[in-house]
Amino acid sequence: MTQRTVYVNGDYVAEQDAKVSVFDRGFLLADGVYEVSSVLDGKLIDFSGHMQRLKRSAGALELALPWDDEALLTIHRELIRRNALEEGMVYLQLTRGSAGDREFHYPGADTPPTLVLFTQAKALIAGRSGNDGIRIATQPDWRWARRDIKTVQLLYPAMAKMAAKAAGADDAWLVENGVVTEGASNNAWILTQDGVLVTRELSHAILPGITRAVVLELAEALSLRVEVRAFSVEEAQNARECFVTSASSFVTPVVAIDDIAVADGRPGQVTRQLRDAYIEESRRRAI
Ligand code: PLP
Repeated sequence: MTQRTVYVNGDYVAEQDAKVSVFDRGFLLADGVYEVSSVLDGKLIDFSGHMQRLKRSAGALELALPWDDEALLTIHRELIRRNALEEGMVYLQLTRGSAGDREFHYPGADTPPTLVLFTQAKALIAGRSGNDGIRIATQPDWRWARRDIKTVQLLYPAMAKMAAKAAGADDAWLVENGVVTEGASNNAWILTQDGVLVTRELSHAILPGITRAVVLELAEALSLRVEVRAFSVEEAQNARECFVTSASSFVTPVVAIDDIAVADGRPGQVTRQLRDAYIEESRRRAI
């Protein structure tokens, strides 16, 4: 891969020169939040939604965010320009910075936060998963109880994805109290045999997906019947269609869950329709 230019605390630097302190609380305590915004045709998708959620996550943790949307947009665009990014993602991470030592209590307001952004090139439209679908393995949801905050403590999602891979699947759905909470890095959806689109209600249990919100709008525009509620693994295995949504996967069909094919084991028609609509709408709204 060619050498990237990344952003660290006000500077645009070559990736091998990008450095943060070993005392950074993001590194020592996972005391930080993040966002991932996708890029199509060199433009940002759902940018204001991602920045709104960043403010919400930072606010929930009393984490200072001394940049407004305009300043953050300028940094995103400058990175896209410097890295000639046409298709992929911009990753943003904000941590509580370094007070020069390891300490549980939050440091005072004189400790500046750390802000890091970098680009990742990825084929979002033509990628195999989005078109052919993915196989899911379920895992227990052993994450903490504030999954609505987009923190960088991603060890359990990484473990769940590894377990899913070991089971021959592409990704994991997390299950708690007999129902699916969400995917390890996406929101989970089903289309019931009666043609009702179902995704779980927002709460502390799941991340309020920005893609999820847009897909709910599109479903309404397409006059689909929608129910916002939890569903079991068995209901998903017996559904007409299943899919996941996230910034980097858009709408991605799920073709099997724990080795049981969903319907005929091929991406569903409504899923394809929503994927196409999401991509079209995103291109139209991209900034
Ligand atoms: N749920 C979890 C746990 C996630 O990590 C993500 C994205 O990373 C999502 C849902 C989807 O959110 P979004 O559509 O904003 O990318």
